[in-house]
Amino acid sequence: KNATYDVVVIGAGGAGFSAAIEAKNAGASVVLLEKMPAVGGNSLISGAEMNAAKNWVQPVLGITDDSPELHAKDTYLGGDKKGDMKVINVMTGNALDAALWCRDYLGVRFEPDNLFFFGGHSRKRALIPVGHTGTEFISKFQAKADELGIPVITNMKAEELIKDKDGRVVGVKATMDGAEYTFNAKGGVVLATGGFGANPKMVEHYNPKIDSRFKTTDAPGTTGEALYMAQRAGAELVNMQYIQTYPICDPISGVIELIADARFDGAIMLNQEGKRFVEELGRRDVLSEAILAQTGNYCWVLWNDKIGAVSNTVKEHPTEYDAFTKQGIMKTCDDLKCIADFTKIPYESLKGTVDRVTSMAGKGNDKDFHHRAGLVDMSQGKYYVIKAVPSVHHTMGGVRINEKAEALTADGKVIPGLWAAGEVTGVTHGTNRLGGNAYTDIIVFGRIAGKAAAEAAK
Ligand code: ADP
Repeated sequence: KNATYDVVVIGAGGAGFSAAIEAKNAGASVVLLEKMPAVGGNSLISGAEMNAAKNWVQPVLGITDDSPELHAKDTYLGGDKKGDMKVINVMTGNALDAALWCRDYLGVRFEPDNLFFFGGHSRKRALIPVGHTGTEFISKFQAKADELGIPVITNMKAEELIKDKDGRVVGVKATMDGAEYTFNAKGGVVLATGGFGANPKMVEHYNPKIDSRFKTTDAPGTTGEALYMAQRAGAELVNMQYIQTYPICDPISGVIELIADARFDGAIMLNQEGKRFVEELGRRDVLSEAILAQTGNYCWVLWNDKIGAVSNTVKEHPTEYDAFTKQGIMKTCDDLKCIADFTKIPYESLKGTVDRVTSMAGKGNDKDFHHRAGLVDMSQGKYYVIKAVPSVHHTMGGVRINEKAEALTADGKVIPGLWAAGEVTGVTHGTNRLGGNAYTDIIVFGRIAGKAAAEAAK
């Protein structure tokens, strides 16, 4: 009930695994604590695309003018300049190294010839893991932790950080099935407990606009109590009101419709009247607000086989396809008449919109909403349509850290012995996290935090 390690890592998502593995490889003894019965957190259920400027796939697609500076600029502007540029630069500057570490050291497999172009980015730069979900990462993380002999203790909830008389964080009080455990940390503690998107009370407390109408995309453990634990240890919580809703989610369960990622390759968003109403590659906050302003507060995402041949989402997400189809929110049709019957969008209006989209296909031709990648010829089926609503997705706020992933107090002092990485931190994404930046963030800062905590134990 009382154990001592060099480094104690709390939370077994992408950030926690990255920290634990790097700490171990820096020579530290390390333990990874996870409150849920299974590891992975939001990192597991994420689409898990990972932005890295100058990655190895970009030249395959003819993209040769990207840079960490451009990625940093997109991130900063995408968050309305509320992010900390010093921290952002560390993220984008180490992104490629982090991606190579995942590929070459962990064995994460990425698609060799495709990238995601998420909203708010000026270049296509998101690497896609095989299967388009976090399973590829988390299975490789778990295998590496096993190989290195890192104990991963599930059902172990961190309750309180322990400080010594000089104010250094020296351990964690945790509970399992009501029994108390103490984990002493010679070097320090890495907090990698994720966000609070699955805690509706906390969400509404920090942002009253996001009320009980909203469901969440998040893993059930994303409930944020650890943020208060950090606060009790002196850490400042910042940007807590910035809560991102993901625009395209299942109206029934709230989960992300990864199958509708065809949007990144040209799928269009329609309202119940059959009209487009926003640039489909806009920021998540912009899309979410636009959807909520439409009849019924939902939209339809429509694509055809020409788009599907590029995005491949129906093939990559067969379970979603079956579930959403059965649930009655998704339909596959040979023609638009059938789509109109299913969605109850007036046929003439639907046809008019699709014809117009086809007439404006190609980069630079969208006179209506200036689709940055260019609309696609949608004259031929098959067609796929799915109903979508915004759902609580990512909490941008959290523990204030510096560029070394050290946790800071309200007056900017480093809390000795405490590092934080991943969604639990609050200064990278400003008001709005761009797609593909979560994985970059968690791996870059998880690695930094783990190494630093290991060094501190020496
Ligand atoms: P990130 O993307 O930042 O790595 P994740 O959501 O993927 O975040 O992972 C965070 C993990 O931390 C989740 O698995 C969650 O269950 C776990 N967690 C949250 N709070 C605690 C806590 N108090 N003690 C132990 N584990 C926790």
